Amino acid sequence: MPATTGTLYIVSAPSGAGKTSLVKALIDALPQVRVSVSHTTRGMRPGEVDGVNYHFVSRESFIEMLDRNEFLEHAEVFGNLYGTSQRWLEETLAEGYDLILEIDWQGAQQVRRLMPQARSIFILPPTQQALRQRLTNRGQDSDEVIERRMREAVNEMSHYVEYDYLVINDDFATALDDLKAIFRANQLQQGSQQQRHADLLSQLLA
Ligand code: 5GP
Repeated sequence: MPATTGTLYIVSAPSGAGKTSLVKALIDALPQVRVSVSHTTRGMRPGEVDGVNYHFVSRESFIEMLDRNEFLEHAEVFGNLYGTSQRWLEETLAEGYDLILEIDWQGAQQVRRLMPQARSIFILPPTQQALRQRLTNRGQDSDEVIERRMREAVNEMSHYVEYDYLVINDDFATALDDLKAIFRANQLQQGSQQQRHADLLSQLLA
């Protein structure tokens, strides 16, 4: 188990930018990184699994959790409620894992206020056309829904300036390398290295 407290990462992107696939590839490659499973009131999509993609709950249960202050942050996105459970997050960071929150810009603002040490990453598509193409290729939505999602995507992207890092997902492998570089550089920060290598440092300076 890692010796240091983990780092919290926020990852946001417009729908269709490839965030979920990139985050999945990242956690497959980096064993010390975990991803938080949010609670949501939206319906399950084909292929999704309860407890893996999300904890799917009723609006009633969500509001009860909210009243019990169980969420670090929450937001309404496309008419559905989404939230990050606080307890699992704190336990996972204390165990030394780096933790990714895949949340929207509203949640990101709340987390930055509460945990200013969190690092935030925004994933962008290379062009609007590419984004539209990716939304169309999913084949799940009508033209009207795609146009609405495009407008919502532009709104989400307008918040990119609030983030520490920007990754452009033109080529998947390059974007994945960029994400890995962000995590690696953060692990090499002096404070983290000091905790991780306390014995080595005291021996070198003896
Ligand atoms: P989707 O329903 O397509 O999986 O996600 C819709 C949006 O909700 C995405 O922008 C996603 O990042 C955001 N989202 C997912 N989980 C959370 C969460 O726990 N909190 C917040 N604030 N946004 C979330």
